[in-house]
Amino acid sequence: MADTTAIEWTDTTWNPVTDCTKVSDGCTNCYAETFAERWRGTHGHHFRGGFDITLRPERLPLPLPRQWTKPLRVFVDSMSDLFHQDVPDAYIAQVWAVMALTPQHTFQVLTKRHARMKALLSRPSFWHQVAEQGREHFADCQQDWLAAGAMLGGKPLPHVWLGVSVEDQRWADIRIPTLLETPAAVRFLSCEPLLGPLDLKRAVIPMSSERGRGLTASFHAGGCCQRRFHGIDWVIAGGESGPGARPVHPQWLRDLRDQCAWAGVPFFLKQWGAYAPEAHGHARGRVALIDAQGRTWDGGDPSAAPDAIRMRRVGKKHAGRLLDGQCHDAAPGPARRAA
Ligand code: SF4
Repeated sequence: MADTTAIEWTDTTWNPVTDCTKVSDGCTNCYAETFAERWRGTHGHHFRGGFDITLRPERLPLPLPRQWTKPLRVFVDSMSDLFHQDVPDAYIAQVWAVMALTPQHTFQVLTKRHARMKALLSRPSFWHQVAEQGREHFADCQQDWLAAGAMLGGKPLPHVWLGVSVEDQRWADIRIPTLLETPAAVRFLSCEPLLGPLDLKRAVIPMSSERGRGLTASFHAGGCCQRRFHGIDWVIAGGESGPGARPVHPQWLRDLRDQCAWAGVPFFLKQWGAYAPEAHGHARGRVALIDAQGRTWDGGDPSAAPDAIRMRRVGKKHAGRLLDGQCHDAAPGPARRAA
């Protein structure tokens, strides 16, 4: 049976790689690092110093039917980044082979290493490597492998969703165009921790007419690309939680919600994070002020920033995930997935 997870947009996590190194501002308070620190030097855990990559091949077979018996949404590598430069191509090919063998699941692969993901998945030799690794390591799944081989056929796997983290406009402008050029059936953005305002149109428009070289699921389903964020199938957003968490400005979340509504893209608000707006009725918890540019002031002296919003550090659970009184839970639906 798979472990459950507190991550709202998935059913379980699968970590064939753990540990990582930081790559952008969204990594500052990485929970995977906090977790690794807890294990440093304890329980016989082999920690190679720093927050280095650890391959965990014993976890590769977990999604196979003999282990996970029910179809699940699976967040791949919640405790690392599969496309980290220290993860060998052949190992990523093994991960892909397992995903090819288990189409009953929906895999959600999220990365901050957009360039390597695009380069690797665009290379025909990678798909040969997936087939080779599958035959070599999962030979006992022979029958399944025949079906998986048919699925590979040069197209992106329909049950593997690819996403990039987008914490601010700078990374939106860099990672989104690269994601759109990566062959994928379903593409998503994780705008968490959201550290600044985002204009998704700005990141998408420079891609010219039919963005993205891989066809999106909606393209297959509708016969044409019907939406204005061509190639983006899902947007997840949220504030930061845990030690050192930074507040999210409510207007940034509203803007994302409204952009998604305008474009017809499902929007999922995962969490406010550690801080919630004082206006939500929170009277306790440390006050921080935040303005629309993301400048923050601890302590809440109103003379510091007259236009700033007052946020209270109440913790993720109390902060909840309602925006203007509504829960935003949308996700790519079965029709899109079926494509
Ligand atoms: S890429 Fe992800 S796992 Fe790696 S350090 Fe950054 S936040 Fe942590």
